Amino acid sequence: MGLRTGLESDSMDGLPSILFDDYTVSQASTWSQRTLKAPIGCVGVGVHSGRKTSISLVPAPADHGIVFRRTDLGVDIPARFDAVCDTRLCTVIGSGEARVGTVEHLMAALSGSGVDNALIEIDGPEVPILDGSAAPFLFLLDCAGIVDQYVPRAMIEILRPVRVTDGDAFAELRPYPRTSRIAPPVLEMELTIDFAASAIGRQGCSLRLTPNSFREELSSARTFALATEVEQLQKAGLALGGSLDNAVVVDEDKVLNPGGLRMPREFARHKMLDAVGDLALAGSALHGRFVAHRSGHALNNKLLRALFADASAWRTIVGEELVAAAA
Ligand SMILES: [Zn+2]
Repeated sequence: MGLRTGLESDSMDGLPSILFDDYTVSQASTWSQRTLKAPIGCVGVGVHSGRKTSISLVPAPADHGIVFRRTDLGVDIPARFDAVCDTRLCTVIGSGEARVGTVEHLMAALSGSGVDNALIEIDGPEVPILDGSAAPFLFLLDCAGIVDQYVPRAMIEILRPVRVTDGDAFAELRPYPRTSRIAPPVLEMELTIDFAASAIGRQGCSLRLTPNSFREELSSARTFALATEVEQLQKAGLALGGSLDNAVVVDEDKVLNPGGLRMPREFARHKMLDAVGDLALAGSALHGRFVAHRSGHALNNKLLRALFADASAWRTIVGEELVAAAA
């Protein structure tokens, strides 16, 4: 296996952040599409609906992409940015009347593990929240195994900066130099958040997205909410499945979970995990640099829509070109 260096560095605004670089991805798995080795599933409660759903991750052929299937309705919904129909509390994709909510942590686990193709069978409207992070989905992928399909994958190269804003919040994709024609896609990510609650405050995180950096730095960071927000949501009939077992709850300067945080800057890491899941809806690996401040599901989706609306801002490099250039 390859070389890994992990080091702390100062980045945006001098905020402590994580710079993580590794070279453990084999050449085979960078050019080849991947799927699960075997089907695997679990049952759990949706954080917003409170409904118990059963979900199965099923291997799929090359060029299939990630597709959600509402088995109770017989409707397929591609996991793509243009199928996103609601981003207020989580990322919801839909087709006609059929919806699947809270896809972001599962999408992050698939994307972070380099899985290109899978059929996600689900018998209800929301992906189980499990522990509020992507770690249980990684565990499922580890149990099932991941295989190379020996069909070249494509990448989307960012050619020009694209930026979307909402007040002082922004999300941006910028070009990133390609070192050679055969270089695999690189997604450098940098994000900051800023909350009035002093238990969160201002914090940041930066990393180069790879299966290892995703697993070690992001996957176990849990979703979080403010205690006041939780009360309001539950009064409005939302966050019905939410509890201290699947979210970090913050009351001003206190983390209410008895076990505290899992790691330093868990909040910023979770926002980056969300961004990985939301950006996975591009449909192929991005080559570029993602920079965001106080972004969320809405801005992340707006960013992909803005990117794909501007044909001069990106291009697709199909895997055949990478393979031919490497030969
Ligand atoms: Zn999340």
